[in-house]
This record gives sequence, C-alpha cells and structure tokens, in this order.
Amino acid sequence: MATIQWFPGHMSKARRQVQENLKYVDIVFELVDARLPISSRNPMLGKIIGDKPRLMILNKKDLADEKLSIEWQNYFRQEGLNSLLIDSKEQATVKKVTAAAKNVLADKIARDKERGIQERAIRVMVIGIPNVGKSTLLNRLAGKKAAQVGNRPGVTKGQQWIRSNKDLEILDTPGILWPKFEDQLVGLKLALTGAIKDDLIPKDEITIYGLEYFMTNYPNEVVKRYKLMDADMELSAVDLIIYLTKKLGFKDDYDRFYDLFIKDVRDGKLGKFTLDRVIDFESEDEEVK
Ligand code: GDP
Repeated sequence: MATIQWFPGHMSKARRQVQENLKYVDIVFELVDARLPISSRNPMLGKIIGDKPRLMILNKKDLADEKLSIEWQNYFRQEGLNSLLIDSKEQATVKKVTAAAKNVLADKIARDKERGIQERAIRVMVIGIPNVGKSTLLNRLAGKKAAQVGNRPGVTKGQQWIRSNKDLEILDTPGILWPKFEDQLVGLKLALTGAIKDDLIPKDEITIYGLEYFMTNYPNEVVKRYKLMDADMELSAVDLIIYLTKKLGFKDDYDRFYDLFIKDVRDGKLGKFTLDRVIDFESEDEEVK
C-alpha cells in the first residue's frame, strides 16, 4: 500500500512529472475511488492538465453503493465530464476503457480521418491519488501478452509505452498526485477506506465518523453485522461504541472495537457503500474541476 507523505517539494515534483508527460498523450484517465468520487480527486488536476481530453474513471465499483454510483455518473455528465464505472479486476475492463477513450476522442479521430491522417493507437496517461487502483488498472490494461512498445522518442527517460490493444497505448508509470487532505472530513473518508496511512488520523475519530455515517445511511447493515435492534440506531455513535465494545467482550478496550469496525468497513462486511453523496456537493461551488 502506498504511504506517501506529501510535502510541498513532493507536490511540485509530482506536478512537474505529470506536466512533462502530458504532451505525449492524447487523453488523461483521471482515476478515482467510486466510494469517494470527489474526495479521492486531486484538487489541482484540472489546472495541471488544462484542456487535455479527460476520461474520469470511477474504479472499485464492486465496493461502491450502486445507486450512488449512477447518481455520480449523472453528476459528472452535467459537469461536462465523461465518466466510466469499472472494477479493475474484471477482464471486461479493457474493452470498456478502450471504447470510452475512443468516445471522448471521437471528434478528433473523425477530424484526423478527414484530413487523411493515419489512425494510430490512442496514447494514455493514468493519473490519480495513491491507492485508487492505478497499478491494478495498468496491469489489467497491459494484460499478460502486452508487449512494451519500446523506446520511442518523445517519452520521458525511463518511461515506456505499453500496448494494450491495437487502439490503446499507455504510459507504464502513472501520475501520482496528492489527495485533498487539508479538509478534515475528506481526511476521515480517505482514512476509513484505507487510502491514507492509519496513523495520520486518530482511530476513534475515524470510527465515530464512520459509525455515524453507516448508522444514518446504511442502518440495516450495522444492525445485521453487530446483531443489534433497529432501536439501537437511535443511539449516538459514541454510545453505540461503548455498548458494542462491552457486548463484544472487549471490556473497555475501545481500540479493539475501532480496529474491528475499520477493518469491517474496508473488508465490505458492512456492505457496499459510498461516502461522498451527490446531495452534499450539488449546492457547493465547484472547486475541484
Ligand atoms: P495505486 O496506488 O493507485 O496504484 O493502487 P493499487 O493498484 O495498488 O490498488 C490499491 C488497492 O486497491 C489494492 O489492494 C488493489 O487490489 C485494490 N483495487 C484496485 N482496483 C480495485 C477494484 O476495482 N476493486 C477492488 N475491490 N479493489 C481494487
């Protein structure tokens, strides 16, 4: 698991690396976690890539709340962003991603054709914050047989193109950018899903935030997992923590409950979930674009 600590020097280096590679690609795949479609975005991406065509990829759809994933895709469509919902572990991902990239670049491809420019593979760079699944997606796109295209002028030293299929070539190193961690709530969301190091935010805070969220949005899952009664969902998260810690036989070892709860969430024991909700973002001025 990536555990990068971001300092201003790292940020400007990361940004520079992305900008250097940008000129060699036709399209950027902005990879985010479908459970955090806004919170797992890099706040500067829009500024960094400018008007380079972009496909937003909501990865880990197998872990996310299906209803909210559809809402998020509608939201991004209204924002003028093409988005695609995938599970990088699925074989079908390669076809889906290729078709979506072609769709985003359809006008350019048609223009090139009119001008008699020979069609070539679309060149792609994958960008995202740590842990959204960039390596998994790259491996999936590369496939077993994928041949490296070899050194070709116009790629930063040490980088290679990987040919995914006749239509797609990907830079073998993804662009890693920082999350929007100055926002406390975003930090809690990233920590609960395991996107940032566990010791960056106290476990009690992660648990209180998470339990409150699940009690409000997925109460049936909490009731089922911890063998509770519906009425228990009326308790405050703190009271429920105290109650469950005892009930589970942990005496007053709350840390044990925090560890169990956080692991349960990450392992999907509390079902599929999404922590960013469209209704919480609609009224806000869009800062992340
Ligand atoms: P990177 O830091 O962005 O390169 O992220 P990784 O590719 O290392 O993935 C981080 C974790 O997420 C790993 O444990 C992956 O197995 C997992 N992961 C990646 N994509 C998916 C997905 O679509 N579904 C699920 N369930 N897990 C995924």
